[in-house]
Amino acid sequence: MLYRKLGNTEVRIPVIGQGTWKYGEDKKREKEDVESLRFVIHHGLTLIDTAEEYGNGGAEKIVGQAIDGIRDDIFLVTKVSARNCSYQGVLRAAEASLERLKTNHIDLYLQHWPSQQHEVSETMAAMVELVRKGYVKYIGVSNFSIQLMKEAKNHLGSVPLMCNQVPYHLHDRSIEAQIIPFAERTKMTIMGYSPFGFAPHIHIMGMNGFPKEGSIERNILNTIGSKHGKTAYQVVLNWVLRQRSLVTIPKAANKEHIVDNINALGWELEQEDIEQIERYFPLFKKD
Ligand code: NAP
Repeated sequence: MLYRKLGNTEVRIPVIGQGTWKYGEDKKREKEDVESLRFVIHHGLTLIDTAEEYGNGGAEKIVGQAIDGIRDDIFLVTKVSARNCSYQGVLRAAEASLERLKTNHIDLYLQHWPSQQHEVSETMAAMVELVRKGYVKYIGVSNFSIQLMKEAKNHLGSVPLMCNQVPYHLHDRSIEAQIIPFAERTKMTIMGYSPFGFAPHIHIMGMNGFPKEGSIERNILNTIGSKHGKTAYQVVLNWVLRQRSLVTIPKAANKEHIVDNINALGWELEQEDIEQIERYFPLFKKD
């Protein structure tokens, strides 16, 4: 596994973590979900991303079971939902997450989405209190603009804003314009989510999901992959990780997919491969 430093700390986190959206939604799959997370962890993907929202707390319960007995080996990320972002709401949400996760601390606690109801100042004050209590080690946000990140930083005092978790994949490279340069300047970690484009809110012209077999875009990825003895999915993970301030959190439940993703490391795309990919997946889509 390859590691990168979290923000300006000396804490090293795996460049590929594991997302848990869709985990814990079906009680009948509980055993299977726990087993697939253990498999992932066993293979070195010890950065686990979850949220109180996933499976209505179900995903956190699965994570709690999967990390039981190996908590110290895990870098645990979870999120408070936007609707719970009042001062008291954040404190209550964190305590409930700790209980479901069966742990006494969260490594990185994120505000899941900007909140329409609650001021950033209130939310961040509660986040600082969680750090003071030792319930949370590091604070971050998710789906935040530059403007909102600056606001959050202003209300955190001496506690650093460590991370912004944002979409980053072939069909959404928008963070390259401002968010990544901002993170590099301010020594924050970007946690890119949905590297294969499966985020639920991506429905731009049917472009959610991975380029389909048979399409020109997929042929490009396949051709580059065969040059390096890699799959198209491995090419994409490698392309995502060319951003040095970034770690990525794919979600894979299938064991073959998990192994495929781990083996996306240990080699580098050539400059001409990157240029070719970016010709077909431009930064801003031309109409
Ligand atoms: P994703 O990682 O882009 O794609 C997941 C899909 O790709 C699954 O269907 C998975 O199949 C498949 N897959 C994974 N590896 C593969 C491989 N090597 N070959 C072929 N197929 C492969 O989508 P995501 O779940 O939207 O994003 C990942 C994580 O990001 C989420 O689980 C969540 O933790 C986080 N996220 C955060 C936010 C936010 O607002 N902060 C929003 C969305 C997502 P199998 O499961 O069958 O293996």
